[in-house]
Amino acid sequence: MSLMIIEDCTSCAACEPQCPNQAISEDRKRGYYRIDPDRCTECVGFFKEPQCTAICPMDDVCVPDPKRRESRDELLAKKERLHPVSV
Ligand code: SF4
Repeated sequence: MSLMIIEDCTSCAACEPQCPNQAISEDRKRGYYRIDPDRCTECVGFFKEPQCTAICPMDDVCVPDPKRRESRDELLAKKERLHPVSV
């Protein structure tokens, strides 16, 4: 399941460089950061916990998006699509 950033985000930008998938960007129209659900893998394949949630100074701002439920296998497949292993 992709994570999403809710409107309580203060745009501190701490999360953006932590994401291994470059899924986080500033949404100037909304005035706070957003997560691209096509790039978010919940950090599966990289870390034990979502890095945006871990670094965020606010509670419950980077939260699971209930509309984007994905299994661990689906998240791993997404990660492999984003980071193909070259041979
Ligand atoms: Fe990026 Fe991980 Fe946060 Fe998803 S959970 S946006 S992959 S840092």
